[in-house]
Amino acid sequence: MDPSFDTYKLAEEHEALRESVRALAEKEIAPHAAEVDEQERYPQEALEALAKAGFAAVHVPEAYGGQGADSVATCIVIEEVARVCASSSLIPAVNKLGTMPILLSGSEELKKAVLPSIASGEVTASYALSEREAGSDAASMKTRAHLDGDHWVLNGSKCWITNGGVSKWYTVMAVTDPDKGANGISAFVVHADDPGFVVGPKEKKLGIKGSPTAELYFENCTIPADRIIGEPGTGFKTALRTLDHTRPTIGAQAVGIAQGALDAARAYVKERKQFGRAIADFQGVQFMLADMAMKTEAARQMVYVAAARAERGEPNLGFISSAAKCFASDVAMEVTTNAVQLFGGAGYTRDFPVERMMRDAKITQIYEGTNQIQRMVMARSLLRD
Ligand SMILES: Cc1cc2nc3c(=O)[nH]c(=O)nc-3n(C[C@H](O)[C@H](O)[C@H](O)COP(=O)(O)OP(=O)(O)OC[C@H]3O[C@@H](n4cnc5c(N)ncnc54)[C@H](O)[C@@H]3O)c2cc1C
Repeated sequence: MDPSFDTYKLAEEHEALRESVRALAEKEIAPHAAEVDEQERYPQEALEALAKAGFAAVHVPEAYGGQGADSVATCIVIEEVARVCASSSLIPAVNKLGTMPILLSGSEELKKAVLPSIASGEVTASYALSEREAGSDAASMKTRAHLDGDHWVLNGSKCWITNGGVSKWYTVMAVTDPDKGANGISAFVVHADDPGFVVGPKEKKLGIKGSPTAELYFENCTIPADRIIGEPGTGFKTALRTLDHTRPTIGAQAVGIAQGALDAARAYVKERKQFGRAIADFQGVQFMLADMAMKTEAARQMVYVAAARAERGEPNLGFISSAAKCFASDVAMEVTTNAVQLFGGAGYTRDFPVERMMRDAKITQIYEGTNQIQRMVMARSLLRD
């Protein structure tokens, strides 16, 4: 047998990357995770540590000052940060989400203007598609943009915007031709200092409490004409293509949360004694752990396959990116719930991280399209011909 057979094996660089992100996450991010959650504060320490190590926006190509990490590497970074703090993992994840429309469809000038400061970790990016009345049905958005001389003027509001208020750059989808439905939507880049851009109050959430989620208001928000991403009318396509590339990153976040809960549960069951022995000795507990580990590993492999296919630029990514996000997030919810169960009463308290992980896992089933919407995308792909 040839020992160099490397199908289904990560590259050595990927494994080395995992080791260094894990070391950084455990040293610099994990110690603050409980407090970030408790105080519902932005994980500034995580931003600084990630930026210093070049991990805040690893996916940005070298040409724009980034690390040029491939999609699998980006997933590994997000996964390892999420293993200790899901809120912090939204720094690299949403930097990718916010910049992907520009990378996919933006002009060279726009890339040069926006990407370097994100790559360096100086600022972060957000992605603004959803509106209060346009969530799953995002194409029914009401935010408008019209050209006024050499400026676009935006009016309307976006909601649920991750890292809203912290980020400096926002990719914003808005209707430019109301008669054309989804083909009348365009994508823009808005800066926090642009006139008419206002950030609303933070949502009070179940989990990912360290990542602010805010409404954005555009009140005659005026931006230069060249801040449009691609041609007018291509914004919704760009928004959906972006999700093909970023749903695997939510899968990676989910895998990281699940792994964090599994690791905590493994350690606990070996220590905790009932009936005169470690609870890890009971087969009922062992089978739970085995299922948790099996499903987490299956989710991880699916996420890496989806990311690798996106990296290769394969067509028809819809099925695999939705499947990876949907499966991994359902696994994260199940694994974290079972981790709480294995801790017994202690799992229900904030003395241990598993209750935070269970709360954090829930969002992965909702954002970047709920898991019902992922199943619709998968079914549409299955029934296409
Ligand atoms: C913490 C948080 C962060 C977020 N971050 C961002 C962000 O950064 N940028 C951004 O643009 N958006 C963001 N979102 C928005 C998120 O993507 C939406 O909440 C999500 O797409 C669902 O939209 P909705 O909340 O309007 O739910 P709705 O669309 O109202 O759905 C309600 C329920 O109906 C179900 N449903 C809807 N339509 C169908 C259907 N056709 N078939 C079956 N079931 C259906 C849904 O699955 C869900 O269970 C975030 C949301 C949250 C909570």
